[in-house]
Amino acid sequence: MMKEENCLFCKIIDGTIPSSKVYEGEDVFAFRDINPQAPVHILIVPKEHIPSAQAVDASNSAYVAKCFEAASKIASAEGLSNGYRIINNCGEDGGQSVMHLHFHLLGGVKLTEKIL
Ligand code: 5GP
Ligand code: ZN
Repeated sequence: MMKEENCLFCKIIDGTIPSSKVYEGEDVFAFRDINPQAPVHILIVPKEHIPSAQAVDASNSAYVAKCFEAASKIASAEGLSNGYRIINNCGEDGGQSVMHLHFHLLGGVKLTEKIL
């Protein structure tokens, strides 16, 4: 698995930086966001260092599918039977602050219908 030396989420995946892990598979790792925006706020990340959604291509898109497979399992385990939201922030204008592809899984409350 490709790691990046100075990447916060690569360090969380390898355990150098502690996290509240909720799921780990061969290709995917998931942990609770340190600054939760909803009762359930989990970050789902590929173990492969992919900088952002803009770096997804035919060589690595299987990791995206694996993240969504994990999201479904995690949502069930977290009891989100009434729904949830998955968000990806991409690049500066998208509000991405950690340059390792991640999906926010948010739920446990009725979320606003607004996208922005
Ligand atoms: P972004 O803004 O890049 O879409 O999301 C980055 C997320 O990572 C933010 O929601 C932020 O709260 C979370 N985060 C930043 N540093 C840490 C950390 O050290 N541990 C955990 N668990 N979450 C973090
Ligand atoms: Zn990384």
